[in-house]
This record gives sequence, structure tokens and C-alpha cells, in this order.
Amino acid sequence: MLVNLKDLSLEELEALIAGLGKERYRARQIMKWLYGRGASSFEEMTDLAKELRAELVRTARISSLESLTIERSGDGTRKYLFGLEDGNQVETVLIPDEGRLTLCISTQAGCAMGCRFCLTGAGGFARDLTSGEILDQIVVVTRGLGPDERISNCVLMGMGEPLANYDSVTKALGIMASDLGFGLSRRRITLSTVGLIPQMKRLVAERVPCRLAISLNASTQKVRSYLMPIGSRYPLSALLAACRALPLPPRERITFEYVLIQGVNDSEGDARGLTQILRGIRCKMNLIPLNECPGIAFRRPQEKAVLRFQKVLMEAGYTTIIRESRGGAISAACGQLQGRIRGS
Ligand code: SAH
Ligand code: SF4
Repeated sequence: MLVNLKDLSLEELEALIAGLGKERYRARQIMKWLYGRGASSFEEMTDLAKELRAELVRTARISSLESLTIERSGDGTRKYLFGLEDGNQVETVLIPDEGRLTLCISTQAGCAMGCRFCLTGAGGFARDLTSGEILDQIVVVTRGLGPDERISNCVLMGMGEPLANYDSVTKALGIMASDLGFGLSRRRITLSTVGLIPQMKRLVAERVPCRLAISLNASTQKVRSYLMPIGSRYPLSALLAACRALPLPPRERITFEYVLIQGVNDSEGDARGLTQILRGIRCKMNLIPLNECPGIAFRRPQEKAVLRFQKVLMEAGYTTIIRESRGGAISAACGQLQGRIRGS
């Protein structure tokens, strides 16, 4: 089997090149071709000797994703449906906003976490993506951008639970942040997790280049574990204790995401509960009014309930933004992603 170069870290690529008897620094040149210039063949890599290119053709390959459809919504959001080599599909969403161009990336085909409000969760889990498949979402979207467009931010908030696919995700993050890869500063990369405590600790301890967002979605253990089955395995109290103890970089704050669901977690009492449990955690809040999805029985709260919720948090001193859901018209908003997957 030919090795897919996009599944390799710089060190692994260097080892491969050294194994071919060539200079290690060639690996850096190859990396720049793969990511910065989005090369799809070895022939394009004109600053490599012909002989090395021929060796690479024999031992390695350059993956891509099959772009199945691209949908555009009136607000400028674009949703890409990609086919993987084994027939699974994932979705990626490009969101233009105030000078930024944010790409929302998938990390798994499906998701095993089964959150009750999320369409991806309802579809079940097929498999982890490889780091190449994670990075190819950026490569392929970038190829189709206009001359003045450049992806400025990446959020791991598409399909899947990124920390359940730790090794491939962290390898991909290393390349996103590297100058040989996409050169995004760590402040422009956000990983959103359902709250897998051991992997969260590891992520921060290993200084993986990303900011951390945690899907909280409730202020009590009872409601949280009802909405998110993972809440039974990692209780809210343990999650909050872990957040308090995380050795975050100076001045950095955790983002807590909170999907607001009518009559479930959107009362003034819930908001006050949140202000209590978050005390002492350096954080900010992102409120996401539920995106309603077919087959999901929950409703989005009225706008006045959303504003009331925000007000309670703001008055208690928490920076709280209401995340405008983008791309709802093309089912590209949070929780609405659903590529066809093959059962595992
Ligand atoms: N698995 C990770 C990242 C992907 S989900 C996680 O859960 O954090 C990204 C965000 O979308 C999460 O904050 C999740 O709570 C939110 N979300 C899921 N379904 C939603 C829905 N129907 N409406 C609004 N937000 C939703
Ligand atoms: Fe998975 Fe996140 Fe959806 Fe939960 S909200 S099912 S963790 S993608």
C-alpha cells in the first residue's frame, strides 16, 4: 500500500525521505507543496529532482477528497459534501464573517456521542478520519477560493468528536499551525469537545496548538446527562473541576458552548445556575439557540428568552455572545451536518 503523505507529520515525512536515501530537508519542500500550494501530483513539485519524484511515485501517494456538492446560502455560507475513499461522506462549512473566513471541519464520519439535540449524533458513527482526511478539507476548499480569499480560522466543530480521534486530530492541528502547513496561529484554531476529560488534560499538557471550547449545554448534572450521554461517564462536577485545574496559557479563556433548548435548559434559573457553577473558571460563553432539525423533538427558544439568558450571564460578569447560526437555509448550521455514513 502506498503511504498517503498527508497522513504523516514532518518528522515522519523526514524519516520516509531519509529511508529513500535522500536529504531530510526535502521533506520541508514537500510539505509546502502539499499544503501551501495544494499540489495533487508529484510532477508539480518542480524543485525536487526527477529521480526523487520517481521514487515518491513508487512509494507514496497524495490523497484528495471527492467534492460531491457545494451549496451556497444567501448569507455567504458554503457547505461542501465530500466523499471519502471508502464511500463515507463528511461535510465541511465555510463561513465568511467580518473579514474572517472560518472553516468548520469534520473529524469523524458520524459521531458516537449520541447527543439528543444533534443530527450528526442521531446518524451514528462510522469511523475516525485520518489526519490526511482532516487536512484535505482545508486543501480542497482552498483550491476553490478566489484570489483574494484565504481561510483565516479553523474550528473543529463539524461532524464528530475531535478528542475521540486524538492522534489524528492533534497531528492535523500540528500541520495547520506549522509554517510548512497552513501557518495558522494557535489563536485562530478552536477545538470543540463534548468534554472528554483525560484527552482535554492531555491536549493542554502537550501544548497542542488550539484553543479549547467545551459543549456544556446544561447547568445541572441531571439535564446535562439527559441531553448528552457522555455526561454520565464524565459528570459535570468532574468536568468543572478539570477546567479549573487546566494549565491554560496566560490570559487565555475556555469557551463554553451552550445550546439553548426551549423548556429544557433556557430558563432564568438555568442561567443563574450557570453563573454559580462557573465561578472561578476563566471562561466566556457562547450561546447557540438550537437549530431545529427533522427528527429532533426539541424547539428553539423565543428570542426574548435567549436575550434574558444572556443578560443574566452578562450581569454576573461573563462575556457572553449569542452565536448567530449561519447557513441554516442549507442545513449547514451547528448540529445539522449529516454526510451519509456506512455503519461500522
Ligand atoms: N462534537 C463536538 C464538536 C462538534 S458539535 C462538540 O459537541 O462540541 C459543535 C457544536 O454544535 C457543539 O457545541 C454542539 O453542542 C452544537 N450543536 C449540536 N447540535 C446542535 C443543534 N441542533 N443546534 C445548535 N447547536 C448544536
Ligand atoms: Fe457528537 Fe458533538 Fe453532535 Fe454531540 S454535539 S453528537 S459530540 S457532534
